[in-house]
Amino acid sequence: MKSRHASPIYTLFDDFLTALLAVAWADKKAQSEDIVPYVHRCEKTDVIVICYAQQVQYRKKWCCMSIDNKSLAQFTPNTSNLHVGLIGDPVAHSYSPRFQQAAFDALGIPACYELWHTPAYELLGRVRSLCNPGYLGANVTIPHKEAVLSLVDKIDPLATLIGAVNTIVHHDGYLYGYNTDAPGLLYALHEYGLGTKQDDGTISLKDYTVVLLGAGGAARGAAFALAGAHVAQLIIVNRHLERAQQLMAQVQQTYNGPVFSLDDPQFLVPRASTIIINATSLGMHEDSSPLPAEVLARFDSDTFVYDMIYNPIQTHLLCQARTMGLYGANGLSMLLHQGALAFTLWTGKPAPLDVMRASLL
Ligand code: NAP
Repeated sequence: MKSRHASPIYTLFDDFLTALLAVAWADKKAQSEDIVPYVHRCEKTDVIVICYAQQVQYRKKWCCMSIDNKSLAQFTPNTSNLHVGLIGDPVAHSYSPRFQQAAFDALGIPACYELWHTPAYELLGRVRSLCNPGYLGANVTIPHKEAVLSLVDKIDPLATLIGAVNTIVHHDGYLYGYNTDAPGLLYALHEYGLGTKQDDGTISLKDYTVVLLGAGGAARGAAFALAGAHVAQLIIVNRHLERAQQLMAQVQQTYNGPVFSLDDPQFLVPRASTIIINATSLGMHEDSSPLPAEVLARFDSDTFVYDMIYNPIQTHLLCQARTMGLYGANGLSMLLHQGALAFTLWTGKPAPLDVMRASLL
């Protein structure tokens, strides 16, 4: 590859290229045709940045060489314009930009939280773009939480267990996958006085029986989170019994407590200290409840009803609970906490929870 210009910066170009090829080859045999040079102007010195892609991976790596001393140096992206966003289809309805942007602004971090509407055929390209300098990572929502598992470089053990990633962190050209939905649910419950915070910051729900309604993606994250919080008993109720049974069997592999699966809430036997969690989509679009009123009426007065749905803010299930004098809450707190955990993963800073919460109200 020959330089085409006679400017001073290019007179040294061939030397650099030779040196770079040695670096590139040492690093998993990049081919010379993969190398794309361009000039990056820093404040004090011109730097040639050479970008090369390995054929077997989509990820691009950056090598940086100083004109002055010809040494390899760390390429520091321009941090005045950081990007982070939500990958999903659809995304327009999301509340995330509202509270994430408020958090970045409150901490003076020059980042912009964007909505990245991504149909399935664009997912690979979208995830690949997160490796570019200046990209902090992303949130991932329906329907891509499972698909991105195979597109990131390293997956957190909890996300592996759940089989879903809702947060991607970009660090130094590599992508890391996490699931913050699961701990987000536990922090949300703890906000309502449920469970105890352990020394390591995790939440224990060891005295509670949990009735989990649903066996889809959200219920799956919840089931593993609840097992990790050592609930006394987990009961999974789902319209299609086989899905509840599958989830039960998977949770049971890492959890010693009793797990039951039911296809009909009528079979529920109320127990003391119960938390009912709605992880079905029933109540989102229509005025219906996943629990018949007569079943809910059997539960003790200290039963807490948590509905993961936050739009509408008052679901039919929560109205039923309130009528019966039961405490309850919608899914806004879970949304807030999963977002706060993601914020900390991207920035390394504690999330300004009050600011984020205020922007949601
Ligand atoms: P999903 O994977 O599509 O699962 C849907 C669940 O709802 C399944 O268990 C399904 O039962 C059940 N269901 C759907 N229609 C039903 C009906 N007519 N009658 C009885 N059961 C029905 O969805 P998801 O991702 O788990 O999301 C579930 C809910 O959680 C959504 O409302 C979502 O907004 C909410 N969510 C909230 C947060 C938050 O941060 N607050 C986070 C994630 C999700 P079958 O298995 O029998 O089909």
